[in-house]
Amino acid sequence: SAFQALGFSQAVCDGIRKTGYRCPTPIQRAAIPAILGGQDVFAMARTGSGKTACFLLPMFEALKAHSARSGARALILVPTRELAVQTLKFAVNLGKFTGLHCVLVVGGESMDQQFNALHQQPDIIIATPGRLMHVCVEMELRLDNVQYVVFDEADRLFEMGFREQLEEILARLAVNRQTLLFSATLPKMLAEFAKAGLNNPAMIRL
Ligand code: AMP
Repeated sequence: SAFQALGFSQAVCDGIRKTGYRCPTPIQRAAIPAILGGQDVFAMARTGSGKTACFLLPMFEALKAHSARSGARALILVPTRELAVQTLKFAVNLGKFTGLHCVLVVGGESMDQQFNALHQQPDIIIATPGRLMHVCVEMELRLDNVQYVVFDEADRLFEMGFREQLEEILARLAVNRQTLLFSATLPKMLAEFAKAGLNNPAMIRL
């Protein structure tokens, strides 16, 4: 298929086929090769562009090789609980055949529940920044094995005042991580953050 041609393995392609995607969207065609190649990416992309699959599919590929160390290896930061829930649904569907385990760390859930979820050794955490920082401090959750981080709807993350938490979270991740940022707009504050947090990113602007 067209996705196979982009370089996805069988398990990932099976999830794509089951979800019903036939051809990559323009943003997927433009960004996926750079992401699969290990580059940091700054993509200007709106909801409806297919941005979610754009970061999930290469993430599954990157996580396929199992690590001997413990702790989540990927982190997806989103501005709201609703977007986190929706992203988890995408991840469960698209990642059905990968064997990867994904959990939510968002406000509105009990800390007990999140403690239990995090103790099941997830590969992927989908989180809102406020609750994630709270869990890092209260539960001593470590993020130093996170090698793949996504800031989704980054302009909204900033509008909602999460800048300080985002910087604290970045500082806790592996130094050799791959960083992806998706945003519909590019306010000045976000440009500064991207300059500091991304390493020579491919700029994708359609
Ligand atoms: P998003 O921009 O990530 O919110 O995705 C918008 C919608 O496009 C969602 O309903 C996705 O399931 C769908 N979608 C994403 N990629 C594809 C694709 N390659 N082919 C068809 N639909 C897609």
